[in-house]
Formats: sequence, structure tokens, C-alpha cells
Amino acid sequence: MALPFHLCQPGGGASCGACCGLYNFRDHSRGALTRALRRRTETIRALPKEAEAYRNAARSLRRWDKDPFFDPVRLCPLLGFLDDEEKRVGCMAHPLVTGGVDLRDCGAYDSKTCSSFECPSFLWLNAPQARLVRAACPDWYLYGLVITDVELVRGSVKLLEAELGGPADLDAIVASPSALEAARELLRLKETALGRPADAPVFGRFARDDMGEPIPRAIEYEALGASAAPEDDVVLCLGYAPPTHRELESARALVREKILALAGAVRLA
Ligand code: SF4
Ligand code: SF4
Repeated sequence: MALPFHLCQPGGGASCGACCGLYNFRDHSRGALTRALRRRTETIRALPKEAEAYRNAARSLRRWDKDPFFDPVRLCPLLGFLDDEEKRVGCMAHPLVTGGVDLRDCGAYDSKTCSSFECPSFLWLNAPQARLVRAACPDWYLYGLVITDVELVRGSVKLLEAELGGPADLDAIVASPSALEAARELLRLKETALGRPADAPVFGRFARDDMGEPIPRAIEYEALGASAAPEDDVVLCLGYAPPTHRELESARALVREKILALAGAVRLA
């Protein structure tokens, strides 16, 4: 099924800049990213819409981007806020933003790459899943974290369907304010879940290898004296790296609690 909207700028408060390096900082908290985007936006907005000015500014802004989480993933200094309210993130070199001239060649890639790139979510998420994420995550920080995490979305739906004992109607969740709020509480864990070590070298389901490359990680069941549970895909996607069986159980319990709340709201919808 074709996606019903473009995932990058779907409207409704959601927007994404993940593939432009938005989250690729060791500190990728909302506050830190807001400060980085604000700095870039203030610099770029004041420029004449000319390649030389954008190139110079990009070079100068790069001095702030010294601490990438994954070394090979590029950070583009031309990603910023598109609105005064700082609610929409996007490319400040896009012709729709500059007023006509395409200045994306001045960023981390080139214009052709920027305009043609589609991340794996375009392939692996279906239309109801995309609609649910857009509706449940109507803000730039959370939407980008969730829409790019296919395994989180699919894993959450799988847990919900196991609880319901059959297929979940995701569009019915979008249409029900209480079910949508419950879905939001579940997906918001990507930002708010407690008990995740702030200094752990993990980003969702990925860790850094010795070269700074992202590598998929797994739960060390044997070392923890634990066996696999249905919640574990989501636990990993949330960025948990539990050092003990007890902490693993507590992360699973948190996921279960949100799934049960969502299933309850779905039954009443
Ligand atoms: S990561 Fe995917 S959804 Fe986000 S801006 Fe890039 S292509 Fe679009
Ligand atoms: S120039 Fe390309 S990489 Fe940079 S913000 Fe724009 S779309 Fe993203």
C-alpha cells in the first residue's frame, strides 16, 4: 500500500530531519538539539540566498558539530527550523524555503542525493502505521525518532495485536482521542522512558563499534540469566541496555503497562 503522505514533511505538527544528521550527537536530547537548530537557523536565515554565502556559513557552523554519535553519519549544518515558533524542522537550503534557489549542494551531500533519498521507513512502514505515527507524534523531536524506527513501530503493533488477540485497526486509534493518547504515551517512551543510562553508547537499537559505525545490538540473555520475551524488541528500540535481569524486567513491565493501556483504550473506542 502506498504511503498517504511524504514521511519527511507530513504536516500536522510532524517533521523529520533524521537523515540530515539531526540526532547524530552524543547528547541528542531535545534541549541540545533545539539549541543546535536555533543556532543554525539564526545564521542561515540572515544570509543572502547565494551559494557562496551558504557554503561559508556551513563551513563555519561545522565547528559546533564536533561530537557525532556515529562517526560516518554526516551532520548537515543546513538543517534548521523552518518556522519562527521552532515547531518544524527541515532543510533551509530547499528551494521552497529559500524562495526558489536550490542551495542543497552547499550542505553535507548534494542536491540530487538530498532530493532523491528515502529512508527505509518508506519501504517498511505501511499507510496505517505512518498515519498513526504522524497523529501520535505531532512534534519535530518525537516524530523523527519514531518514524525512522521501523522496529519500534512494528514491534509495538505486534504487542498490541497479541494483547487484542487479532489485528489492530490503527486508523480507528487515530480517530479515537483516548486511544490516540494511549498510543502517544507508548511512543513517547522513546523520549521519556526512565532508567536508561544517559552515557550508554547506544542509540535505540544500535551501538557504536570501534570505528564509530552503527551496529545492531541484542540483549545478553545468557549474561543476565534471562530468556527472551515478546517486549524485548521494543525494549531495545527504546534504548535500554539493562545491566541486570531485574532492570530488564522493569523495562519490559513499562512497555507492557503502556501496551495494556492502549489495548484497553482500543477496546473502548
Ligand atoms: S529520515 Fe526518512 S522520514 Fe526522516 S527526513 Fe530522512 S527520508 Fe524523510
Ligand atoms: S542540504 Fe540535504 S542534508 Fe542538508 S539539510 Fe538539506 S536535505 Fe538535509
